[in-house]
Amino acid sequence: MKIRHPSVWLPAAALLIVSQLTFGASVKKKDEAVASVERHKAELVGLSDQVWAFAETALLETRSSKLLADYCDQQGFTVERGVAGMPTAFVASYGEGRPIIGVLGEYDALPGLSQKAQTSKEVLEAGAPGHGCGHNLLGTGALGAALAVKDLMAAGRLKGTIRFYGTPAEESVGGKVYMVRDGLFRDLDVCLTWHPGDKTEVSVDGSQAIVEFIVEFYGKTAHAASDPWNGRSAVAALEFFTTGLNRMREFVRPTVRMHYAILNGGDVPNVVPAYARLWCWLRDSKGAGVEQLLARARRIAEGAATMAEVDSKFTVQGGDWETLVNLAGEKVMYDNLARLGPIQFTPEDQEFAKEIQKATGVEPKGLDGSVRPWAAPKPDPEGGSTDVGDVSWIVPTLSMNATTAPLDTPWHAWPVVACGGMSIGHKALVYTAKVLATTMVDLFENPKTVEAIQAEFREKTKGVVYKPFIPDGPPALVKR
Ligand SMILES: [Zn+2]
Repeated sequence: MKIRHPSVWLPAAALLIVSQLTFGASVKKKDEAVASVERHKAELVGLSDQVWAFAETALLETRSSKLLADYCDQQGFTVERGVAGMPTAFVASYGEGRPIIGVLGEYDALPGLSQKAQTSKEVLEAGAPGHGCGHNLLGTGALGAALAVKDLMAAGRLKGTIRFYGTPAEESVGGKVYMVRDGLFRDLDVCLTWHPGDKTEVSVDGSQAIVEFIVEFYGKTAHAASDPWNGRSAVAALEFFTTGLNRMREFVRPTVRMHYAILNGGDVPNVVPAYARLWCWLRDSKGAGVEQLLARARRIAEGAATMAEVDSKFTVQGGDWETLVNLAGEKVMYDNLARLGPIQFTPEDQEFAKEIQKATGVEPKGLDGSVRPWAAPKPDPEGGSTDVGDVSWIVPTLSMNATTAPLDTPWHAWPVVACGGMSIGHKALVYTAKVLATTMVDLFENPKTVEAIQAEFREKTKGVVYKPFIPDGPPALVKR
């Protein structure tokens, strides 16, 4: 089997040098950063629990973003709200001069995932959204890190600028892409983020590129029994389209993922449907692969419309670039993960996790809070995309995962919501705030570390022209 290593850029020797450069950083300042997170722990957990309870979906995170932005304000950050044409996006800054380090926070929930913080499936509020991706933890954990750095700056211990980015609508729309387009990350030296998961590790595998589009078909209605010959079915075209797309599956690379939802497929059988609508997502390891899929899907839509004798409309709604991994930066983050050691879950946390595993038919192994050893990046990312990808092509971006849910239980599902609203999630967010904060101490203290990270970034982005998948203008505020 042929194995490619597209993202292995730094040889081991260079990593060692970077690691040695960071070794000299003030251990004391890291301890102070950790102490700051501990000091704010109760507040951070309180914020996370409130965001968990608000459970607001993409671009509707009004209370969640206000809560976090207000807190930044109280803590002495300068807060700019409603950036990049999105009322729920904001940037909170503190300090001045270089380096400028950013931390990304998210706070959007997923529709229909309302769940109580308990070991069995039970909705908190019927039909309401829930934090099935743990973004309540993501936002407040990242904020805790920014706050710890701010505390050190206020005490005259670190110099430079820290920015916390309140980035809405990760789950759909992709708020960060709009913030990228508005140039909000352009002057950063390095950016950091994290994501909840069932393991604790640095993210060196990246994520897939994705494009999403809507296909609409416009036919002609008629009575389905008395004069069907006068009708032209939009649903027939939609069926031709899905048939074409599904036949195409055989002729795409194994890294491709294609999925869709039918949003309008007629109302009643005795009316020839004049309108049909489908929402489709196409993914591959690289943006170039996605571009090809998109061109093929467009042709399939045209062909479907021709066959059904209807009109079609194809609208690209957005998408994310694949995440560009920065190994020099990930190594710094890894050292700080290793320094902090595993997340210490209690026997009660483990019991809670095992009950959930039993309830979801998964082996009851509990939580794995250990730090996964450094491993070479996989040739292709696993399935999944994030708008962090777009940021990573503008500024070197470092990311990690922390354990917020039981091993192997389903994601974007009730177990994640349950654990995100109790002590398991709380421990993970506090832990991550410490890792991100101590990693940032390295970045603020060691210009050579930042330079090594930026050198890798320059090398990997040489000749690349970044162009977002999003259409012109601000994102449409549509409830899907
Ligand atoms: Zn997520």
